Amino acid sequence: MSRVFNFSAGPATMPLPALQAIQEQLLDYGEAGMSVMEMSHRSADYQAIIDEAEALLRSLMDIPDNYHVLFLQGGATLQFSMVPLNLSKGGKLAYVDTGSWASKAEKEARALGYQVETLASSADDQYTYIPDLGDQDFSDYDYVHITSNNTIYGSQYASFPDTGGVPLVADMSSDIMGRPVNIEDFGLIYAGAQKNLGPAGVTIVIVRQDLVPESLDQTPVYLKYATHTSKGSLYNTPPTFAIYSMLEVLRYWDKVGLETVYQRNQDKAKLLYQAIDDSDLFHNPVRKEDRSLMNITFVTGDPDKDQKFIELAEKEKLMNLKGHRSVGGMRASIYNAFPLEGVEKLVKVMKEFEGMQNEN
Ligand SMILES: *Cc1c(COP(=O)(O)O)cnc(C)c1O
Repeated sequence: MSRVFNFSAGPATMPLPALQAIQEQLLDYGEAGMSVMEMSHRSADYQAIIDEAEALLRSLMDIPDNYHVLFLQGGATLQFSMVPLNLSKGGKLAYVDTGSWASKAEKEARALGYQVETLASSADDQYTYIPDLGDQDFSDYDYVHITSNNTIYGSQYASFPDTGGVPLVADMSSDIMGRPVNIEDFGLIYAGAQKNLGPAGVTIVIVRQDLVPESLDQTPVYLKYATHTSKGSLYNTPPTFAIYSMLEVLRYWDKVGLETVYQRNQDKAKLLYQAIDDSDLFHNPVRKEDRSLMNITFVTGDPDKDQKFIELAEKEKLMNLKGHRSVGGMRASIYNAFPLEGVEKLVKVMKEFEGMQNEN
């Protein structure tokens, strides 16, 4: 086996023990005599899988009983419209613009015809910081939407705004379970699984029960949270294999312990930021207090040099370090499953490359 260090932003590295567990049971899951892929979503075997996935997510993230946990399809992108469709009460909706995904979420709400306000934006400085919302009064809004970690720009909320009882909605696609959060600070959290939780195909929604409207006229059935809360995410065929694969990831994190995972995330990020800050060649553009633990961006300032560095890194089996096409440079996505050794190797190759530049 020759696995590389995969810095991909998503779909991303999964824990090897979880992949092995999936492999071992691929043809015959437990005593079912069939693959999970071949199982009816109405079978007892599958019910046990989805129940365990929900129970583990609840215990790992400490999700209170008055919150629903849903496994949906359509990615975070479908949540951009499901959130306003379900949570709007006819008033104004507030969005904080901290990057491309945040702005896409806001655009979708506008496109649906809601009255949307941009509370704050860091677009004025290429999204290199998280704007401070200060002491505003949020009571005019039906909810406040934020993106907790900005996957493309590499910034992250160090602490969350206090919206004074107005539901805070967070797109946590790229940092869910990457650090402890207090679920009760949020009305709704959503995340595609393919960054920090498993393979692509399943989207997690954690929503406070009282926020789910019972009847929503004119709304397509799949787009109503109530459709799924009333059927335990089994209204229609769910992404069965993606949910199962996520379960193997959760089983593994449960063994390791999320405190350990969080400590490792801090160690990995510290090592890489230190190397960037110590370097005369590489630079991270994000304001220090807003730097992401999960996606670390860096540039030399010269696109040719960036490209040469990426090529050298690939020779060393450090893959997918190219920054998002909209920003260029480099981006190291180091989610929960990404090993410290990969970051150590990256730092070594960065030093080598800088040495080579100095010789020229
Ligand atoms: C990746 C990502 C998305 C898009 O997710 P899809 O599952 O592809 O729809 C949205 N928001 C954030 C913060 C992301 O990182």
